[in-house]
Amino acid sequence: MTARIIDGKAIAADLRARVAAEVHRLGAAHGLVPGVAVVQVGHNPASEIYVRSKTRQVLEAGMRSFDHRLPETTAEAELLALIARLNADPAVHGILIQLPLPLQIETATVIAAVDPGKDVDGFHPLNVGRLAIGVPVMIPCTPLGCVMLAKTVHPTLEGLDAVVIGRSAIVGRPLVHLLIAESATVTIAHSKTRNLPALCRDKDLLFAAIGRPELVKAGWVKPGATVIDVGINRVTGADAKPRIVGDVDFAQARAVAGAITPVPGGVGPMTIACLLVNTLRAACKANGLPAPAL
Ligand code: NAP
Repeated sequence: MTARIIDGKAIAADLRARVAAEVHRLGAAHGLVPGVAVVQVGHNPASEIYVRSKTRQVLEAGMRSFDHRLPETTAEAELLALIARLNADPAVHGILIQLPLPLQIETATVIAAVDPGKDVDGFHPLNVGRLAIGVPVMIPCTPLGCVMLAKTVHPTLEGLDAVVIGRSAIVGRPLVHLLIAESATVTIAHSKTRNLPALCRDKDLLFAAIGRPELVKAGWVKPGATVIDVGINRVTGADAKPRIVGDVDFAQARAVAGAITPVPGGVGPMTIACLLVNTLRAACKANGLPAPAL
């Protein structure tokens, strides 16, 4: 069997186009332009590329982008003061704090300072708790994108057996809650899990959010399963050139799986598209408008 490739790039482009159409409609009907503030502290090369891409896609969707670049030496109090201003600014519907932050700043304090209604990353403890009790308001972008991709293969995830490898606060844990909400039966695995290949081998859905290049091999995948690879790992190829690979050995797994996301071009593009979705929803909610149909 050769798996169907889940084209995250095309699916994300389609979602962005639907967001842009809704933004256009909101502007025409209500004079409302959703706005997102991106706050970056210091210079992390990976963050720079990501922020540039984010800003471009926010603008392309017809939204406003407010970029704040602060020096590496910024004190926590200065960052908190900026967040307080953004919380109070009615033109800003979404606030995104680019992580990681420099060591002098306590990340948890900063995340908790963002207005939960503008927390388009879904990292605020209130939003984390809402997701955990099954009444989500702001859903973290990467797990949301993962579920959307899985649903392009399975219109419903109800009753499917899923394994999520990785228990981070930004991917694995929220993904588990989303899958429970979809009525999948979920197993979560991590670095202390015993006999991981056998645990994965009978699952209909396999989500890998590990950060280990090509760890998941063909023998981990149930024939016909759907494999969603969140990993982004920089490795040096046999030709000594750098390249990006996922957490799944794509060449091996695609021979067994029914459907699989590539890296790059799978989950990655969905993350920013879902950020646009969250910003649009936040703007509607802040203005007493119904949630947009996307
Ligand atoms: P993380 O915080 O480092 O968490 C990694 C998780 O994988 C941990 O729960 C860890 O277990 C588990 N793990 C590590 N080695 C393992 C092993 N050998 N067997 C089983 N489990 C293992 O990473 P993350 O932030 O969730 O990110 C995961 C990957 O996704 C990274 O490659 C990252 O770059 C990528 N990512 C992509 C996007 C996107 O937009 N596509 C967004 C976010 C992250 P323990 O908890 O026991 O340590």
